Amino acid sequence: MASIETLIHKLTEFEHVVITTHANPDADALGSSLGLYHFLIARGHKVTIVTPTDYPDFISWLPGNQEVLKFGSNTDHLIKEIIDQASLIFCLDFSGLDRLQDLSELVKNATAKKVMIDHHLEPENFDNYRLWDTRAAATAELIYDFILMVANREAISADIANCLYAGIMTDTGSFRHSNTTSKVHRTVADLIDLGANVTKVSSAIYDTNSLNRLRFIGFSLLEKLIVHQDLNIAYFVISEKDINQFELQKGDTEGLVNYALSISGIVMAALIKESENKVKLSLRSVGDYSVNKFARDHFNGGGHKNAAGGVSYLSLDKTILKFETALVDFKEKYKLKS
Ligand code: 5GP
Ligand code: MN
Repeated sequence: MASIETLIHKLTEFEHVVITTHANPDADALGSSLGLYHFLIARGHKVTIVTPTDYPDFISWLPGNQEVLKFGSNTDHLIKEIIDQASLIFCLDFSGLDRLQDLSELVKNATAKKVMIDHHLEPENFDNYRLWDTRAAATAELIYDFILMVANREAISADIANCLYAGIMTDTGSFRHSNTTSKVHRTVADLIDLGANVTKVSSAIYDTNSLNRLRFIGFSLLEKLIVHQDLNIAYFVISEKDINQFELQKGDTEGLVNYALSISGIVMAALIKESENKVKLSLRSVGDYSVNKFARDHFNGGGHKNAAGGVSYLSLDKTILKFETALVDFKEKYKLKS
């Protein structure tokens, strides 16, 4: 694997570029992809963004969103052609090919060189060039760094600034999580100077709730929250029936897990959510407790120390049993030595 500097020296040689990101993209995944897209288009590359799945409405306003091709629709044959023709594929905000779901084989088998730009723990080796830093709060922060390696800050348009700001704001939990470094603040300060609109981005992402979603949150807090005071763990279990009852849309359960983590004394929180043929787990922790390790050990997942996810193909009830069993020694087993 070559360094990112090697790529930067010959970036202009790559005409057809594809940008892809993980399934169910969040604001960091999509904001990083669109931020990089605007930058590369302005430098004369032919660029296509391909996402493995659709994504929620609260990020669909990001500038350039209408150009994104989503796999699993009637453009799949076009996506295959574009990936075949590409000479460079940027893989943003993930470091394991399985996070591309049905798109993973296409990307894996592509002849194009692959660039990983990411901040998740324990990356796989599928890339030719890598800009990877787990200290980065968001992949969008690394895209900012990448742009400054290739060009100067004037290359960052207001559109790029808004895309990157959205990614950093959400991955830091609005500048509250432990990944919020002084560098994060310096980066967003510069993005604001370059045209990021703080109120526009935050209200588009946080203040566009449907009434159904708010009522669902109330229902979940009242009826679906399980608290183990002795273990300092709290979690929600959401069934497909609950999702249908409140007519939830994609992204409507995002952020729910944080209510469980916000209870005083809780060190680990989870959202266990049933969907068509699997159960998804969203995990959060505080301090030195590692949900990344927990997700890897028990639920074929991963992520960051304090925010990770995983999956189970057992029934919802059996998944809960498995989770409950794994919780018993969570505090002893998953506290990293600092
Ligand atoms: P969220 O709970 O917000 O969906 O995800 C939290 C973090 O865990 C994110 O950084 C996300 O990329 C990662 N993550 C979520 N689900 C999975 C998964 O199934 N596998 C892996 N490796 N990481 C995941
Ligand atoms: Mn991210």
